[in-house]
Amino acid sequence: MAQTPRPLIAGNWKMNGLRADGLALVRALAARHGAASPACDVLICPPAPLLHPVREALGGGAIALGAQDCHPRPDGAHTGDVAAPMLADAGCSYVIVGHSERRADHGEDDALVRDKAAAAQQAGLCAIICIGESLEEREAGRAMEVVSAQLTGSLPEGAGAGNTVIAYEPVWAIGTGRTPQAAEVAEIHARIRDRLGAKGADAAAFRILYGGSVKPGNAAELLALADVNGALVGGASLNVDDFWTICRSCP
Ligand code: PEP
Repeated sequence: MAQTPRPLIAGNWKMNGLRADGLALVRALAARHGAASPACDVLICPPAPLLHPVREALGGGAIALGAQDCHPRPDGAHTGDVAAPMLADAGCSYVIVGHSERRADHGEDDALVRDKAAAAQQAGLCAIICIGESLEEREAGRAMEVVSAQLTGSLPEGAGAGNTVIAYEPVWAIGTGRTPQAAEVAEIHARIRDRLGAKGADAAAFRILYGGSVKPGNAAELLALADVNGALVGGASLNVDDFWTICRSCP
């Protein structure tokens, strides 16, 4: 029987924090991790200018470093963008792709997200591919259909549990304090795993994260659900007490 994947708790700082804030946060987190390892892998995804100082502060310890986006090309004339090999070179082992804020702010579609995930794979990074329905789509009863289509469209050839993580993030739950019912999260995660299996992937080994208003007060319930293998955490990852409580909530 396949082993349940070790949970991953990923903190997405988004466009928040200057150097001093980021360093204080990551040092406090590393101190707690050093004192008592949680039952999960821990990942921090700071804004690009903080990757280097955060990496220095982490000192190659047990907390992993990730970026929030990458370009689909490995190099070239793309002013302002960052390529996946540059992120690997900066010490990242993960990169988030297809976050709903990038899909909305930058018009990113599934084909582009797929190319970014493929670029991440090529660079030896693990891509965290974000998918999730809008409130309108949910209210129309289309959540499952939308999530399935995004998964199919965003998953590159060669995606497997070793180089890809899926993050189910209902758009209406991000930063709003609202979450779906636990049973709804469990149902969508199970469907995502089914679809990964139907695409020939090593579905049981995949980490499928839930994201959207994960807080200390709801983390234990969400993380205990079948097929939930961790969380992508936005707002609560900016507070060391909150983020650490979430990490410690992994079963
Ligand atoms: C996110 O940014 O991916 C996220 C889930 O944000 P929040 O936890 O603030 O809802």
